[in-house]
Amino acid sequence: MTDRPEALLIYPPVHDFALYDLYLKPYGLLNIAAMLEAGGWNTRLINALDYTDESTVEVEGSVRRKADGTGKFHRQTLKLPPELQGIRRKFARYGILKDVLKQKIAEEKPDAIFISSGMTYWYRGVVEAAELCRELWPDVPLIIGGVYASLMPEHCVRVCKPDYIAAGNMTLSGSTVLSESGRALNAFLEAGALPGAVPSSDAPLDHDCWNDAAVLRLNDGCPMNCGYCASRSLCGGFSPGRPEKVFKRLRLLAETRGTRNFAFYDDAVLFDSSSVFIPFLKQVVDYSSRTGTRFNFYTPNAMHIRYMTAEIADLMKSAGFQEVRLGFESASDEFHSEYDNKYSERGFHNTVRMLTDAGFDRSQIVVYILAGLPGQRASEVEDTIRFAADRGFTLSVSEFSPVPGSPMWPDCVARCSLPLEDEPLYHNNSFFPMEWEGFTRADMQRLKALSKQRL
Ligand code: SF4
Repeated sequence: MTDRPEALLIYPPVHDFALYDLYLKPYGLLNIAAMLEAGGWNTRLINALDYTDESTVEVEGSVRRKADGTGKFHRQTLKLPPELQGIRRKFARYGILKDVLKQKIAEEKPDAIFISSGMTYWYRGVVEAAELCRELWPDVPLIIGGVYASLMPEHCVRVCKPDYIAAGNMTLSGSTVLSESGRALNAFLEAGALPGAVPSSDAPLDHDCWNDAAVLRLNDGCPMNCGYCASRSLCGGFSPGRPEKVFKRLRLLAETRGTRNFAFYDDAVLFDSSSVFIPFLKQVVDYSSRTGTRFNFYTPNAMHIRYMTAEIADLMKSAGFQEVRLGFESASDEFHSEYDNKYSERGFHNTVRMLTDAGFDRSQIVVYILAGLPGQRASEVEDTIRFAADRGFTLSVSEFSPVPGSPMWPDCVARCSLPLEDEPLYHNNSFFPMEWEGFTRADMQRLKALSKQRL
């Protein structure tokens, strides 16, 4: 026992139609843990998406995982929420068993509880975790942060009933107090019990969640403000990181945990690359050649087509990038002039040439195609799929999800027949909320099937 206060940090389960682990890690929450520890706290993490949890594996068996650190989570079928009636798909809870989650929360009384949140339409998993905490520890301050809490704070206050919302990029400094529930939270904060002024730290390394794959973030935010994205609302713009700090993190993970797979959480890893990404890649290449250590890098977030250079492509290949995901979105010039201004056909061909010259096979170039925006026609997406497939790329059709805080959110609210502002479940892209006669659910299924065929 120590005199240090105890913080419990919970990465909640996910309720959704489907969930695949493309490097879902409690990175933001562990950054909070680092700040708390620097401020004199002990921290305890419960990762409800831990696919290695022994008690859950004992009951449900192991889930299928891949060598690159991606794979399935444990899954328990749930009844379809009444709001989603009419959808002919199974709904499920992903993560460790609910009883196991409850036991872990009950283990030791904390002095404060932090719950993170992801997609807005995953809020039911946050509610589940928050309710368990209230049941077990009703007098412990409960703080919810992350994407959903930041983009829909009023909904979060109403439904999850936290004492406090940590809005923004999961940092406590500058957070917004939106709920004063009479639990003396303000006094708790003002007494300096939370180290809000501790400069941002990096997620601690001593967690098993980094073994199969770890995440890195070189920069925060993005300089662009695409119509369909809430990066600007969440991060407030681009701020460059420190490559030597991120390289040190990679080296420590490699040497202490044997981690070889790394995924970037950056929104704009190629921006300001001469000061950040290029120096980082050079350190990796140098380290690999000195030690013989080979890494595998992944970019689950798309890279900007227009900022690729031949030098970056060469360095990425030498460093061990296994694929390059590009934010292509559409082959239509009108699409880009309306929503993102981030593509030109010439620029795209140049980027592809640089990547193939560096040694990437075309099948290692994954192009993201965005489908289902308000008013978008199915024929435009079909043309895009054919354009990309004809050139031998791997295609990934992303079904559009309306995101609060994105520039086009008001348009989505105005055009959608469902109450998007009141019910985040309707933001789920599996639900296709922006369906209209020019792009129906049947069109979406046909186009997804088309993208998987060899054309
Ligand atoms: S979609 Fe990508 S490029 Fe556009 S604002 Fe978001 S992160 Fe930036």
